[in-house]
Amino acid sequence: MTARLFLAQLSHETNTFSNLPTDRGQFEARDLHYGEEIVETFRGTGTCVGGMIAAAERHGARLIPSVAAAASPAGRVTRQIYAHVMERMLADLRAAGRVDGVLLDLHGAMVVEGVDDGEGDVLRQVRAAVGPDVPIAVTLDYHGNITPEMARDATLLHGYKTYPHVDMGERGEEATERLLQVIAGRIRPTAALRTPPLLPAIGSQGTAREPMVGIMRLAAELERDPRVLSISVFAGFPYADIPEAGFSVYAVTDGDQALADALADRVAGEAWRRRREFVHRGLPPAEAVQAAMAAEGGPIVLADMADNTGGGAAGDGTEVLREMLRAGARSAIVACLWDPAAARACAAAGVGQSVTLDVGGKVDDRHGAPLKVTGTVRTLSDGRFVHKGPMMRGLPGRLGLTAVLDVSDVKVILISHRWQTLDPEMIRVVGLDPLEHKIVVVKSTIHYRAAFEPIAREIIEVDAPGLSSSNLSRFDFRHVRRPIFPLDPETTWP
Ligand SMILES: [Zn+2]
Repeated sequence: MTARLFLAQLSHETNTFSNLPTDRGQFEARDLHYGEEIVETFRGTGTCVGGMIAAAERHGARLIPSVAAAASPAGRVTRQIYAHVMERMLADLRAAGRVDGVLLDLHGAMVVEGVDDGEGDVLRQVRAAVGPDVPIAVTLDYHGNITPEMARDATLLHGYKTYPHVDMGERGEEATERLLQVIAGRIRPTAALRTPPLLPAIGSQGTAREPMVGIMRLAAELERDPRVLSISVFAGFPYADIPEAGFSVYAVTDGDQALADALADRVAGEAWRRRREFVHRGLPPAEAVQAAMAAEGGPIVLADMADNTGGGAAGDGTEVLREMLRAGARSAIVACLWDPAAARACAAAGVGQSVTLDVGGKVDDRHGAPLKVTGTVRTLSDGRFVHKGPMMRGLPGRLGLTAVLDVSDVKVILISHRWQTLDPEMIRVVGLDPLEHKIVVVKSTIHYRAAFEPIAREIIEVDAPGLSSSNLSRFDFRHVRRPIFPLDPETTWP
């Protein structure tokens, strides 16, 4: 019997401090696909959906692809686009008739206007549509804020095990294979969720750095027990200011609740014991730029960690650029600054022309003020590229109208679609070679490391202002449960 698997994606990481609404246009700029187009778009890519397609095809399961929607992290998802995606998903589910299982690629930190727990709401609706007996397997981002409602309505949750997220394809395959085992009656997933009051900033969550190295190693060791199906550790997304934001552990065994509880307690306890290690700060912009200019050789990568569009920051922060121009840095690239109006002004002037304009600082007052610069338009392009690094390899990306503005040998890449600088291809595609430059500024917190570490002579982390800052005292939290560490340093648990 060929298993019929329903497949859908709805993925958004919501930074509730952002004033940029995530509307239909934001999904269209990234991913909004229907039906068979989903298979064409994602087959062979290093993404969860790519992994689901690969495993389904390998095991001879039949996929019923419905809708795939993802947008760059920003403010709350609008009611309208959320309703559209859910209507489509539920209509396709009804039209599909009997399905044996459901595969969902969700994020875990989606906040919809009026709905704090976005994924909990998606799962509640899908569960209601398929009834209690159809298994639902879900892939979730490492930054998911996992709620009891999500754990209740899903049969299995699979979180990424890496940050930078280089295992999305593997997790998609794993979720599909486990789902097929459930359908075949070979396993009976039994899960436990633990949510210690811990809210780590994303800059401290990298899985190549302590304390996450040790926490992930423990989870991997415990996962080797043949009675264990999987252990997911979610570092959480602090910039979604909802009650359930924060760290969590989800352990699944084959029918053994006591074991699932014990494992979840053990890993969550380890994270809690090491909570004080989740503190991380970069250098102030002036110091960071001085250090980069004084360093031997290049490229020196300056990570503008707080202005990461992948964490919902504006991507138009100006503080690092301002400091570089003030200090007279040369042979530098700023990748990439989101400013569609500036890109259009460069296009209107034309390649080779000199322009004076304000760049950046236009979204809000959290990313530095607009900066007046005079430079020469070096190149213009449509910003299309394909990811070639370890993350999302093979997936096409679109930066929209993209201009390179050369300001006294500081080349500012001005993009029109918000996209995290996680792949050097985003620089090469506009005709710049990062290897031939002294300084490369990347607007990314951790993800850039997967592809930039191998080419960087040195990496310097910068603590500039922005909505993905590691300094949580910069944020006015109103909804997250209290007490929670580190906002309340004396928090006790359990
Ligand atoms: Zn993530």
